[in-house]
Order: sequence, then C-alpha cells, then structure tokens
Amino acid sequence: SSFVTMNLSRPLLKSISALGFSKPTPIQAATIPVALLGKDVVGNAVTGSGKTAAFIIPMVERLLYRERGKNAAATRCLVLVPTRELGMQCYEVGTKLAAFTDIRFCLIVGGLSLKAQEAALRTRPDVIIATPGRLIDHIRNTPSFTLDTLDILVLDEADRMLSDGFADELTEIVKSCPVSRQTMLFSATMTDSVDELVKMSLNKPVRLFV
Ligand code: AMP
Repeated sequence: SSFVTMNLSRPLLKSISALGFSKPTPIQAATIPVALLGKDVVGNAVTGSGKTAAFIIPMVERLLYRERGKNAAATRCLVLVPTRELGMQCYEVGTKLAAFTDIRFCLIVGGLSLKAQEAALRTRPDVIIATPGRLIDHIRNTPSFTLDTLDILVLDEADRMLSDGFADELTEIVKSCPVSRQTMLFSATMTDSVDELVKMSLNKPVRLFV
C-alpha cells in the first residue's frame, strides 16, 4: 500500500513526503481509507505505530474539502490526549502535515496560559488538540467557546485517559459534541471501561486491529 493510491490531495502528499514518510505504517494503511469515508473507527495502536498520522492525515484531507463560506471560521476537529507531552507531539505532527494548507491548529493543555489559550480559541481554530482537564476549564469558563460545529472527534490513548481518572471529563466533553460527527478512538489496550467509552461515543465503528 502507498500514500499515493489513497487519493490524498497534493498538499498532503507534499507534506507526507517532506516528513520522509515513504509508505504507510500498518495502522495508517488500515485507518486512512476507512476514516476518509467518514466512518467511526476503533484502533488498537500503541505509541510508535504511527497512529498520530493515521488520524491526522484523513482529518486534514476531510478539512480541505469542507464547505467554507465567508466568516465561516469554525472548530471542526477535536483531538483529546492524556498528557501535555502527547498533546505537543500531536500538535507538531498536525502542523507539519498541514504545512501546505491554511488549516489552523490550537494546543489546549495545562501549563500554558489560560488567557492566551482563551484568545486562541476565540479565533476558532480548525483543530483543537487538548487534554480533557484543560478543555473542561474552557468549556465551563470561556463563554464564547463551543463545540457545536465539530465534525470529527478523536480520543487518543483512551485507556490512559480513563486510567488517569478522566472518565467524567470525557463523558462531559463527548456530550458537548454534536451527535452527528465522526469519532475515532485509539487505545493500546481494550479494557471494559474503554469498551464503555466506545459504546457511549462511537456509532457502528469499524474495528481495526493491526
Ligand atoms: P506515533 O506512533 O504517532 O507517535 O509515531 C511514531 C513515529 O513514527 C513518529 O516519529 C512519526 O514521525 C513516525 N512515522 C509516522 N508515520 C510514519 C511513516 N509512514 N513512515 C515513517 N515514519 C513514520
């Protein structure tokens, strides 16, 4: 399998090759074609498998084809990650993969200034990468902030978010998202609590075990 046969647009093929990715990893080969169709996906994948690009590539591709009217700046994608470090890595991969597009990313994690993040959210970035705790702060305290325009939700390292005690935050965030959306969930392990989260958050998911 190759990135070229996946029907990706030029700006993506260009950034993929600039990153030096010559062929998709197994999780990418499995996830990207299904995710491009807009289907919900559950992936069993660990750090190091290339799972970040597995969800960022179809996300960027789908953002490139959305309707974009005048003044239509709106947040379309939310990626939830368990830690600030993973958030920063995901932000880096995302901005590099979107380097030849006008897609804007925003990182919402602890340790960064709340005021600066509020200002960033007010510009309605296309993609928010966030830890659940810090995002909840903004949902509760930033009046103009809404997830009403969301098309794609990603729950990355779901087992870790749950074992880190974010179950209630995840429930609150998922309930703040539109019912009609695409959801992708990745987890290294498939525990009962991950299964519950899948049942609560995903609609007829395609299960990818690579
Ligand atoms: P991740 O599992 O998303 O943390 O990615 C692990 C590492 O693999 C990162 O350093 C990526 O830059 C790299 N990577 C992701 N996809 C590919 C690919 N298709 N070819 C080569 N390296 C990749």
